[in-house]
Amino acid sequence: AVPLVVAISTSLSASKGLLIRNRTAFENSRKISVLAFDKTGTLTKGNFAVSRYDALSDEYEKDDILKLAGALESKSEHPLATGIMQKIKELNLDVKEADDFNSISGKGIEGKVGNKNVKVVSPGYLKENNIEIPENEEENQQETVIYVLVDDKAAGVIALADEIRPESHKAISTLKENGIKVIMMTGDNEKVAKAVSDELQLDDYFAGILPDQKLEKVKELQDKGEFVAMTGDGINDAPALATANVGIAVGSGTDVAAETADIILVNSNPQDIASLITFGKATYRKMI
Ligand code: ADP
Ligand code: MG
Repeated sequence: AVPLVVAISTSLSASKGLLIRNRTAFENSRKISVLAFDKTGTLTKGNFAVSRYDALSDEYEKDDILKLAGALESKSEHPLATGIMQKIKELNLDVKEADDFNSISGKGIEGKVGNKNVKVVSPGYLKENNIEIPENEEENQQETVIYVLVDDKAAGVIALADEIRPESHKAISTLKENGIKVIMMTGDNEKVAKAVSDELQLDDYFAGILPDQKLEKVKELQDKGEFVAMTGDGINDAPALATANVGIAVGSGTDVAAETADIILVNSNPQDIASLITFGKATYRKMI
């Protein structure tokens, strides 16, 4: 007989969207009661484009903000970094390379540009560290907003916009029809998260959360008796993926995430997860 895993992998790989790393992962897929998606690159396209940027201090010109950010972002692989580097290329700006580059997990990046200590960070980072920004700056629409800090003072702001994947609508409705609660966990800000959640009619969402908080959420849900599947892409997400009952690494993500996961979502397409679950349920119905 053809082993179950092989048979399944062959059927599902008709869509070429899924790599199933173990048999239990497939067997477990029919038990999933909650599916927690990450946002960027899975429910959305992950193609950020700069929609607005500005200096927040008299010491800088508008373009200096992109240059400072670019010095750091040229060393980052985050989708936000790609969007910023694209804008820099379009404007033909000259960008230095930062030294002592580091990432601040779930919050941004930091490094030295000449003699300046520069950070590019989330709004949450500003709040935690009581860093002030001009009033009314926060009243953005549904954009992802990041701040450029020089020596821990706000120097400028960059806003970027992403788009929801067209396939996400169908995927979410299929999952819900199958009795699965669909939620989203994202490090991005509340406004963006709410807009995506409303548009896709998610059951719930958690915004501005850090990687270790994702792990806590997974555990909380499990304590309530839920059987949790989670998607994730970063090194950051590996502990939460390992704890989830079904960990799904998103294809373009890092190898570490892929190694911890039960399933790899090769094309980052949420529709492939919906197919896996409906296929799983149908297969087991036939077997009993
Ligand atoms: P998620 O994948 O859930 O959106 P991340 O952990 O990748 O979350 O990022 C969370 C937040 O940290 C981003 O929304 C952004 O504000 C900030 N951040 C992370 N990496 C970068 C980066 N390279 N440049 C600027 N901001 C970043
Ligand atoms: Mg991420």
